Amino acid sequence: MSKGLEFFRKMLEEERDRLRAELEAARRKEPLGNIGYSNHMAETATEAFEQTKGQSLERRLERLLADVEYALSKFEKGTYGICENCGKPIDPARLEALPYAVLCFECQHRYEFVPQKGIGNI
Ligand SMILES: [Zn+2]
Repeated sequence: MSKGLEFFRKMLEEERDRLRAELEAARRKEPLGNIGYSNHMAETATEAFEQTKGQSLERRLERLLADVEYALSKFEKGTYGICENCGKPIDPARLEALPYAVLCFECQHRYEFVPQKGIGNI
């Protein structure tokens, strides 16, 4: 097997730790503390906007973290780097750019164009 596996595992573990820290930081930034000072409508709107932004960031991080953890679980099963759809090995160059990819380029491409057909838990 390719000696790259450990490399990707390490990369994913580092990514997981980084995402966890980032998620924690995002959660700690609850806008509770700075509600008091806004008297203007505009400021309130901005705050609401900031809040929404914060939530979507949190959601994005959660999603990403789930992807990374899912990819890591594949090392245990010995299926890391194998496309979930067609069972072919995923191009290492693709994994290097996207270590938590679970589909090969072709399947991902197809999936993006026919999202209604879906492929399980992506
Ligand atoms: Zn595939």
